[in-house]
Amino acid sequence: MIAILLKFVKVSNLAKKMKKNSYFSAVFTIFLLFSFFIVNPVKASVLNLKSSSSQNIPILMYHYIELAPASSTLKGLYLDPSIFKSQLNEIKNENFNDVFVSEVANSLISKKSLANNSIALTFDDGYEDFYTNVFPLLKKCKIKATLYVIINALDTPGYLTREQLKELSNSEYVEIGSHTFNHPDLTTLNQFKSEYEIIKSKKALEDIINKPVLSFCYPFGHYSEYDAKLAAQAGYLASVTTANGVSHDKSELMTLTRLRPGARNGSEFSTWLKSLFKTKNHLF
Ligand SMILES: [Zn+2]
Repeated sequence: MIAILLKFVKVSNLAKKMKKNSYFSAVFTIFLLFSFFIVNPVKASVLNLKSSSSQNIPILMYHYIELAPASSTLKGLYLDPSIFKSQLNEIKNENFNDVFVSEVANSLISKKSLANNSIALTFDDGYEDFYTNVFPLLKKCKIKATLYVIINALDTPGYLTREQLKELSNSEYVEIGSHTFNHPDLTTLNQFKSEYEIIKSKKALEDIINKPVLSFCYPFGHYSEYDAKLAAQAGYLASVTTANGVSHDKSELMTLTRLRPGARNGSEFSTWLKSLFKTKNHLF
C-alpha cells in the first residue's frame, strides 16, 4: 500500500515537472486516483466509514426485575416483573430470534449474519431477582439471556449465590459473562488493577461455573481504549457498554452498544423492537 502510494507520488511529481500546464496536471492526477481505486478495490474499501458486514441486533440491557423500593434513588434500574413478562411474551409470540451475546460476537467474527430479527437480552450485576423472577420465565418461554456477574458480590445479600449461579450456568437459556470482581470504574484504576478486574475475573468465573466465559461488561459502561484492549487480550469474544446503539460491526466487538427497553408494555414493546431493525442510525 505504502509502496503504491510512493509510486503514485513520484509519478505525479514527474508529471508536474514534465508538464508545466496545471490543467493537464490536474487531469492527470484525477486519472491516477481513478486508476488507483479501480485497480485496488480492496485497498479503497478501507476508506469506507462503515463496513457492509454490520448488522442491526438490539442488545437489550436490564438490571433489576422487581418493583423498585420506595426509598430507591435508582428507580430507572427497576422493571415491574409483570411488564417484563409481557415483553418476553412479545418476544415469543412475534418470533424474535433470541441469542446470547457470544452468538452476536461469533456472527460478526465469522461474517455470517444472524436471522434479521435477532435480539440479545442482557442482565447486569447478578442480582438475586434474576434467579427468582427472571430464570423461571426464561425457561417457561424458552428465551436466552446473558447474565453479567460481579464476582465479589456473589453470596452477599441481594445477589446470587454461587450455587444459584452454577445452576443458571447449566441451563441452556443462560450464558454467564464477567462484570469484574468489584464493579469499579475501570477508568480510575491503574494498569495492574484493570488487568485484575478484566483478565483475572474471566478465569475466576470460569473456575466457578466450569465453562468458558465468553463476554465482558464494563461497570457503569465506563472504559478506556486500554480497557478495551485488555478485554480483547483476556480472550473475551465481545464486551458490552451502556452506550445506546443497535448496529454492530466486527471492528466494535469490544465496545458493543446496547438499548434500554424501559417499561414498554405488550405490543408497544414489539413495535419498538421491530423498528430497530429498520433504523439506519449507528448510534442514538
Ligand atoms: Zn453493573
